[in-house]
Amino acid sequence: MSNYSKIDLHTHSNKSDGELSPYDLIAKASNNGIQMLALTDHDTISGLRDAKKAAVRKNIRFINGVELSTQWDNKTIHIVGLNIDAENSIIVKACKKLKVLRKERAKKISQKLSKVGISGSYEYTKKLAVNGNITRFHFAQFLIEKKYAKNQAAVFKNYLVNNKPGYVSANWPSLSETIKLINSVGGIAVIAHPLRYKITATKLRKLIDTFKQCGGKAIEVITSHNISKEITKTSNYAKKYDLAASIGSDFHNESVSWNRLGELPLLPENLVPVWKLWNKDN
Ligand code: AMP
Ligand code: MN
Ligand code: MN
Ligand code: MN
Repeated sequence: MSNYSKIDLHTHSNKSDGELSPYDLIAKASNNGIQMLALTDHDTISGLRDAKKAAVRKNIRFINGVELSTQWDNKTIHIVGLNIDAENSIIVKACKKLKVLRKERAKKISQKLSKVGISGSYEYTKKLAVNGNITRFHFAQFLIEKKYAKNQAAVFKNYLVNNKPGYVSANWPSLSETIKLINSVGGIAVIAHPLRYKITATKLRKLIDTFKQCGGKAIEVITSHNISKEITKTSNYAKKYDLAASIGSDFHNESVSWNRLGELPLLPENLVPVWKLWNKDN
């Protein structure tokens, strides 16, 4: 069993689409009694230095992380990299490229929205994304603010998704090259929120199988939206494929009730916690 009880290894700051600065995220984590935290912004490592500094002061064990967008079998799959060496030029370069990809995609999304009479979204989202990593979350904020949609759920039903205005097919790096990248900078590759991909169980097994063959080591067993049936499913995948188990809220902001920072059930005792892979003492 671990010496930690409050752990959150999947969180976002305003360096991607989270609300809080890395500093404020750590302050909140400290108030919530979190002992170990990873910052895992979408395709960027730019918040890690500030977060680490703040975490040291608050006596929180800080883990360098990133959530990388990948492409597999025509689907976007998110792979979290934990305990990465963020100084390694390989990851620095990869994130620079992803930032350019995001910028290009944002321009295309904006052009597509213009075609249905919705203008000004690129300029708006560029301002929202303080670090320049524009995500669909920022476009969602724009569409809600301009009254084209009433909430996030409506945005991701009526816009920005396949066959809807503002959809742009993603051009992310492949799953295999992303896992290799994480491994090459000393990190652990983790399948993020495995039950959120809207794929059949057969395809999910194929995904986990490929992930494992490419050198992936862990899977999120506890994520947001936890209901015991889902934890049983993800635990079974961890066991079946001999993967370590991770735990993370996917916290973005205060207003979403189902992914509050650090408010997560404990990992089932019979699984290998992912931090065992980098922390032999726990
Ligand atoms: P992107 O990586 O730019 O494609 O943006 C993906 C982000 O949009 C996710 O990380 C979420 O923050 C947000 N998102 C995607 N789908 C939904 C959804 N159905 N409801 C709410 N937020 C979503
Ligand atoms: Mn997000
Ligand atoms: Mn994700
Ligand atoms: Mn996330």
